[in-house]
Amino acid sequence: MPRKITKKPQEDEYTTIKIPNDLVIAIDRLIGTRGYKSRGEIVKEALRIFLDKFEKEEQFQMLNHDSEGVKVWDRKLRRVADIIFKPNTIYCTVCDAHYCEHIRYALSQPDIQQLIKKKKEEGWQINPPEI
Ligand SMILES: [Zn+2]
Repeated sequence: MPRKITKKPQEDEYTTIKIPNDLVIAIDRLIGTRGYKSRGEIVKEALRIFLDKFEKEEQFQMLNHDSEGVKVWDRKLRRVADIIFKPNTIYCTVCDAHYCEHIRYALSQPDIQQLIKKKKEEGWQINPPEI
């Protein structure tokens, strides 16, 4: 059961959240690199990526897949995106694109990562941006 939120956040207000010191140490190592100037900046970016991932997982669902491709159900569009694997590219029928949010979602799934890895070992030239 989710824990009860004791204080509802107000707009334009900040909430203090406790995090373990090992994470703080890891965050501090990033300050001064990649343009990061503060802990808050790093935590905000990390949380946005994390929350975006959950949002995408709620939006998309992998229906089935084989070595030819994968079907991704898009709840927002209420459509199935056919993601087709070819020796030198990946294609999404909904977006008419070789890289889109459906492909990115498909490539984030462990089964598909394994499949792409196997295909690359077989000589396929698929090189999506995040693999
Ligand atoms: Zn797409």
